[in-house]
Amino acid sequence: MQRQPLVIGNWKMNGSRQLVQQLATTLRDASEMLGVVKVAVCPPAILLPAWQQEVFYDQVHLGAQDVNEHAAGAHTGEHSLDLLVEAGADYVLVGHSERRQHYGDTEQRIQAKVDAILGHTEQKLTAVVCVGEHEQDREAGHTMQVVQGQLEHALANVSAAQLMQVVIAYEPVWAIGTGKTASPAQAQEVHAFIRQWLQQRYDAAAASVPLLYGGSVKAENAETLFAEADIDGGLIGGASLEPQGFLAICRAA
Ligand code: PGA
Repeated sequence: MQRQPLVIGNWKMNGSRQLVQQLATTLRDASEMLGVVKVAVCPPAILLPAWQQEVFYDQVHLGAQDVNEHAAGAHTGEHSLDLLVEAGADYVLVGHSERRQHYGDTEQRIQAKVDAILGHTEQKLTAVVCVGEHEQDREAGHTMQVVQGQLEHALANVSAAQLMQVVIAYEPVWAIGTGKTASPAQAQEVHAFIRQWLQQRYDAAAASVPLLYGGSVKAENAETLFAEADIDGGLIGGASLEPQGFLAICRAA
């Protein structure tokens, strides 16, 4: 099955209106690439409306970095799906390792967030489920076990039909923001494992799920990573803040 390459920029708590304008201009000038590679940008939620003003919707997708699993109510500081959708988001990152480590994203909450996204009336929403092991897990030989556990929790209630709205991002925690990238072979090994796990559970539907690699992807290493059979693109942190570098990564996909 031919999967369209996908590159997602995760700005984390960075960026500005100026960067929105710069990146939007850079991507618009590369519109021939956007027909081949699907590109999504996840700025801080407060910048989504600025993107809405800049971007042709059918060309660049917008995403949120997280969501609250509740529909509305007394959740100071949080964003609901309705609010994010209104601001233009159709991708939502779930279970990023920074949220798992510092902001209370337990397996249970991640599952609730995935369920909320896939149960939302806006059926074009995509959940980008982030998984990945810590360095000590890898050293102990537990990488696959950790990744499988995360997938089992996150996708516990996801049906084969809903898999169309799921992207999996494999991000080894030791590679995020550290400059240490998994080698293409290391990344491919885990991606192949994820694909196999999806196949066992979902059969043919698994073939359509994009599997992204994330963790210190740069213009210099993107091409060799994306050349691997089960790596369909990337989730890009630091390097998504520099428009030309991000464009080069998108082109590499
Ligand atoms: P990085 O971050 O590219 O800066 O390593 C990736 C991510 O956290 O999604």
